[in-house]
This record gives sequence, structure tokens and C-alpha cells, in this order.
Amino acid sequence: MKSENVKQTKNKKPPKKLKSVNFTMWGYFCILAVFLIFALELVFYSVVAGTFGNQARQRVERIGKEVCMEIRAGFPVNDLSLRRYASDGVYVYILDSRGNVLSPQTPAAEVDEKVVTELLNYLGGYGAGSEIIFRAGEGINYGAKLGAGRNEHYVLATYSLSIVKETVGTLQLYLFIVGVVILALSFLISYLISQKITRGLKSMSSAAAELAKGDYTVKFTNVDYKEMAQLSDTLNHVRDEVKKSEDFQREILANVTHDLKTPLTMIKAYASMIREISGDNKEKREKHLKVIEDEADRLTGLVNDVLSVSKLQSNLDVINPKVFNLTELVYGIINKFGYLQETNGYSFMLDIDKDLYTRADEEKIKQVIYNLLGNAANYTGEDKTVYISLKQSMDGQRIKFCVRDTGKGIEEKDLNEIWNRYYRVKENHNRPVKGTGLGLNIVKVILTNHAFDFGVESKINQGSAFWVDFPSVPSAIDITKE
Ligand code: ADP
Repeated sequence: MKSENVKQTKNKKPPKKLKSVNFTMWGYFCILAVFLIFALELVFYSVVAGTFGNQARQRVERIGKEVCMEIRAGFPVNDLSLRRYASDGVYVYILDSRGNVLSPQTPAAEVDEKVVTELLNYLGGYGAGSEIIFRAGEGINYGAKLGAGRNEHYVLATYSLSIVKETVGTLQLYLFIVGVVILALSFLISYLISQKITRGLKSMSSAAAELAKGDYTVKFTNVDYKEMAQLSDTLNHVRDEVKKSEDFQREILANVTHDLKTPLTMIKAYASMIREISGDNKEKREKHLKVIEDEADRLTGLVNDVLSVSKLQSNLDVINPKVFNLTELVYGIINKFGYLQETNGYSFMLDIDKDLYTRADEEKIKQVIYNLLGNAANYTGEDKTVYISLKQSMDGQRIKFCVRDTGKGIEEKDLNEIWNRYYRVKENHNRPVKGTGLGLNIVKVILTNHAFDFGVESKINQGSAFWVDFPSVPSAIDITKE
């Protein structure tokens, strides 16, 4: 026993820890913000900083070459001509073979020693005309060797990256501020959105709790978001359906108890009558016993109907389709109603094609035809005539069964309702076939389970025609194989 308990606890899964919408939103927004900041940094470094570097390199090279050309072309190069590039951030120097500044001389030109040493290192061993672009000191530099022998000198153009660095620094600061703002905003937005969503969910969940307690007046309202509106629509629908089903159950109980009471009272009354009055009178006794039999039949019918409905509704009753002769089935049921023709003056007008076969659950289809014929007999007019037809379509694919009466008809507003459980059009009607208000519901469930088309057409004071559309199966199909 003990070990079993241990096993059970081991197998039991721990309950899943659920995250709140607020927390999840925050999480996702933070991830998004961090990703955005990273993306900005990346763009900044690869595009902005890269572009700055490239531009500096191009500028220093262009100016350096320009000065070299001027020197080669014999233009006078003096302090003024060299200083004119300063506005572009480029400083140009003419150096002697040892790296001393020849020009510009005023004001005393300062050149980074490191840069000069690098330049001499790079170009010292090469001949006149060689040039190089290199990074040294604070900036990016262009160097060219001109002249030879005693006339050997260098052109050095240098672009200080300190300005670029400063700009980049400032931009980075801005970027940091933007990042912080994005992060703060994402916190705020995620908080506001999640609050808005959860507010709707919370109100719906408290409404659902009320519904669970049995309050069917609750309304699920949320029109802020499409999905939430859909959810509240669905919940409203669920509420209506639950209410309907509860009403139905109450109605069923009332109807069944009422329907059971009448025949039971009759049976009891007639049994007493036989004992006390008609016991020895054979004729009277037979009559009273007939009433008892009829009422007992009615009780059986009622109980069967209630059982069929609950079985059909809970899908316990599976459909067993097979091929059978529909014509024979219809004739068989008409024969059952023969007593109406013989004793009650009913006439059945038939238009039935020979040997039509269909594939369906024979027993259930029998019930459908029986219920429809019973209703037609119950509700037909003074002429007590019922028209029954079973015809194959022109293309031979379908069979249409139709039963028509000449009664009062069914009002437009009731046409959809009559298929519901216990729905009865309110009127007193003396009916030869006892009904329970379940007949058409059984018809509907059976035909829907078969996926057969069916319907009713009705005209007030002219009558109603109930029809069912069956698939036609060639009789050649070997029925024994079904
Ligand atoms: P019931 O046992 O009351 O006949 P049904 O489910 O068979 O129950 O029918 C439901 C209601 O539909 C009936 O009460 C009646 O008002 C109406 N109805 C059914 N068939 C016909 C018909 N042929 N003509 C007029 N009304 C009909």
C-alpha cells in the first residue's frame, strides 16, 4: 500500500507554473528593447563610424596628392597654400629627408613625432614618387616621397581623428540616452497594454464565475480587441446555450411527468372500473381493457421516445448503414397505419416507385418514416387524406420521400422550432396517433447523423409536406455483402 502511494506521488506531474500576462509582456518588450539598442549600436558602428573613417581616408589622400601635383608642376608651395586645407581638418607638411618640417613655418608647425618616424620608416627605403596611407598618432595620414638625393623631401597630409572621435563620443552618448528612453518606454507601454488586456480578461472571468453560479443574466462585453470581442461573443453564446439546455431539462421533466400522469390515471381508473362495474359484463370489460391496452401502449411509446432522444443526443446510438429496399420499408409502415384506413376513414394516396434501394440505418429510417406518417395522420384536415410519394430523381442518383397532409399547416415562425425537443404548436388537437413532442426531434437527429437533406414546406390552411432526400443505390449491389 505504502509503495503504491509513493509511486503515485512520483508519477504525479507537478502543476504547471503559469506566467502572468503582465510579466510575459514585460519580458518580451524588454527583449525587444535590448535587441533594438543592439541593432542601433551595430548600425552606428558599421555605417556611421565606418563612413567617417572612409571619408577621412579619402580626404587626406586627395589633398596629399593635390599638394604633390602642385609641387611637381612647380607651383609655389608656401605656408598660406598649405594652411588652406586646415578648414577641411587636414594639415599638410613638407618635411626634409630627416623629417624636419620645412613648411609651414609660421606659426611654428607642430607635427606628431610618431607620425614622422612611421613615415620615414615606411618610405625611407623607397624611391621618389612612392606614397602610403597609414594610421599613426591621433589620425590617418598620407605620405609621399618626392625628389632625390639632396632634394629629397616628403609631403605629409594628416587628418586628426580626434574630431571624429569626439563626434562619435557625442553620438554614443545620444545613443545611450535613446536606449534608456526605449527601455523605459517599453516598460511603460508593456505595462499599459497588459493592464488593458488583463482588465478585459478579469472582467470576463468574474462574469464567467457568476455564470457558473447560475446567473444567466451576466453579459460578456469586451469590444477593445477583435479576439476579445470574439471570445465574449462565444461566451455569450455558451451562456445562451447553457440556459436553453437548462430550460429544456426543466421542460422535459414537466412534459414527461405530465405525459406519464394521464395514461397512468386512465389505467388506474379503468382497472378500478373493471373490478367494480364491468367485471362480469364481457362487452364492457373488453372495451375497458382496450383502453388500458391503448394507454399502456402510449406509455411504452413515450418511454421509447424519451430513451431514443437521450440515446441519439448523447451519440450512444451509432449508425449502422446497409443497403435495403426503401420501397418495401415505406409500404411496410403504411400497412401499420392500415387500421386508420379501416376504422377511422383515412385514405392514403400513394405515388411510390418500385424497388428503390438506399444505403442507411434501416431501423432508424423506419422510425423517421413512421414519425412523419404519424404526424401527417394527426394533423391532416377534415378530408383525412395523406399523400405519400417516393420517387427517384431523373438522374437516378437520389430518392425523394414526401408525405403531405391537408391540415392547418405550420406558421412560418414555428417552421424551425418544430424540430426541437418537446416543441408543440400550441393548439388543442384531437389526434389519432399519440404524440410526445419528440417525434420530429428524433427525425432531425437521425437524418442529421446520416447527413441526409430533409425539410418541410407548409401553407396555412392548405397543409404541410415533409420531405427527405435519400441517396439512391443500384439494386445490383449485393445486399448480402453489406
Ligand atoms: P408531436 O408529438 O407533438 O406531434 P412532433 O415532434 O412530431 O411532436 O411535432 C412537433 C410539433 O410540430 C407538433 O406538436 C405540431 O405542432 C407540429 N407538426 C408536426 N407535424 C405537423 C404537420 N404535419 N402539420 C402540422 N403541424 C405539424
